[in-house]
Amino acid sequence: MTSSTTDLRERCREQLRERGARCTAARLNVLQVLAEHGGHLGAAQIHRRISEVGGHVEVSTVYRTLERLVELRLVHQLAGNAQVSFGLAMEAHHHAVCTGCGAIDQIPVAAVAEVMRAAASATAYRPEGLVLSGLCPRCQQ
Ligand SMILES: [Zn+2]
Ligand SMILES: [Zn+2]
Repeated sequence: MTSSTTDLRERCREQLRERGARCTAARLNVLQVLAEHGGHLGAAQIHRRISEVGGHVEVSTVYRTLERLVELRLVHQLAGNAQVSFGLAMEAHHHAVCTGCGAIDQIPVAAVAEVMRAAASATAYRPEGLVLSGLCPRCQQ
């Protein structure tokens, strides 16, 4: 296990503890998969990734765990065209959605703060989130 993986697990543990939630293996696994991925994943993808690293967890457990993590506001969900996807909610972010493969990545809030202000004044909307559509790096190749 690399030191960054250990840090990650430690951070996830802390976040769960702060919320008075038990740090179960399933919760840790889900948070870790999302943190390592850095974007959004569907429940089935999360389940597959946990299995790939040797974790044994039922799909139904992944769904239940995600539900609980959403309640705890550690994870948020996004309704895409094809499926609901889940991403870490610890740091505020916007979303980039790939029109090729449907991948959803995170855009740091600070990176587009200017754009959000400009969009707000141009439309008189009170912006809550930005969804950027385009081709992800993998689909550009
Ligand atoms: Zn997100
Ligand atoms: Zn793509």
